[in-house]
Amino acid sequence: MSVITSTWVERDGLLRSPLLERYRVIAGFTTRAQGSMAGSVFPLDEQARNRDVLARRLGFDAVARVRQVHGSTVLRVDRAVEPWPEGDALWTDQRGVLLGVAAADCVPILVADPASGRIGAAHAGWQGTRLRVAQALVRAMVGAGSRASGIVASIGPSIGPCCYTIDRARADLVRASGQESYLSDAPGGAAVFDLWSANVAQLRDLGVESIEVSRICTRSGGHDLWSYRGRDPDGRYGTQLGFIGRLGT
Ligand SMILES: [Zn+2]
Repeated sequence: MSVITSTWVERDGLLRSPLLERYRVIAGFTTRAQGSMAGSVFPLDEQARNRDVLARRLGFDAVARVRQVHGSTVLRVDRAVEPWPEGDALWTDQRGVLLGVAAADCVPILVADPASGRIGAAHAGWQGTRLRVAQALVRAMVGAGSRASGIVASIGPSIGPCCYTIDRARADLVRASGQESYLSDAPGGAAVFDLWSANVAQLRDLGVESIEVSRICTRSGGHDLWSYRGRDPDGRYGTQLGFIGRLGT
């Protein structure tokens, strides 16, 4: 069991996962340099173009997306389809498919099973973490034949415990999910929710042994990242994309 806290490496305006790249997987997170990839603030056609440019630049045709609803539904997605199916995690065993999850504080969780070639991605904010979407993703891959101990996982840039407080009502829901050990008291009944540690624990509890945490906070990380909590005074913020894919056909 190893939890690696190597900071992701920024290369050509993209943050890359050192752990997943070791397994010849294209995996990382966009920055503001590529423009907004999702969300309702920037024009949809502009964001679709940004995703296409990203996919082509990385050697793929398109980004396979899902319509994220802060749930725990996992979908097998072997190609980019429209309209996007509803879910918050997706996986494939196909080469040539670039999976993408949108996040602007929520946690992008990228996983790969090098033995089988299965890869996956999940989007986990406080709700997805409460609902254990990361575990749902690993279970789906295990159900398809992967061994959990062979899966390597990376927790990408997202809001860290340095910055993330939730109100009492949300904290109560997290407590009810049995994850109170990742909450700490904040003034006024609020709580700091350590999304990184909670998701590491979820993966570890299922037997995932190799887990990397980028420890880059979207709110305060000093990288050129958008943050929902750190949005501009006029409410504008963009959304990054966590991506993972294997080249080839
Ligand atoms: Zn922070």
